[in-house]
Amino acid sequence: MKSHLTRSQNTVLKLLKKLNREISAQELYLELRKAQLTLGLATVYRALDTLKLSGIVQARLLSNGETLYTAAQQDRHHVTCLQCGVSIPIQEEECPVHELEDQLKQSSKFEIFYHTLEFFGLCTPCQLEQSHSKP
Ligand SMILES: [Zn+2]
Ligand SMILES: [Zn+2]
Repeated sequence: MKSHLTRSQNTVLKLLKKLNREISAQELYLELRKAQLTLGLATVYRALDTLKLSGIVQARLLSNGETLYTAAQQDRHHVTCLQCGVSIPIQEEECPVHELEDQLKQSSKFEIFYHTLEFFGLCTPCQLEQSHSKP
């Protein structure tokens, strides 16, 4: 892991770790202001991008085009509703794709920082809504 972070990258990372949840750049910018750490929005975006490319920060693109960031290093698994966009983390005893990740490290020669796994479908309220609206 790269240790020579700039001050703004460090500030962003520290707050991400403290918040310990997924957050958009816009929201993070507001949280920074609340904490009296005034960084420009462009600086926040730049810092997040650099941290992402170093594998320190994880980015997840939602279906509405918004990107959420976390400092967490662990792998993420989600189930996401196609209709309302609700996205719920899945807690698993053991990750089913770790073996694949190890194989990929060998075969692709990539330095793999993390992976995500996302399942798509309809949540219960949206299923009910659909079955009610059927002719
Ligand atoms: Zn839904
Ligand atoms: Zn996994």
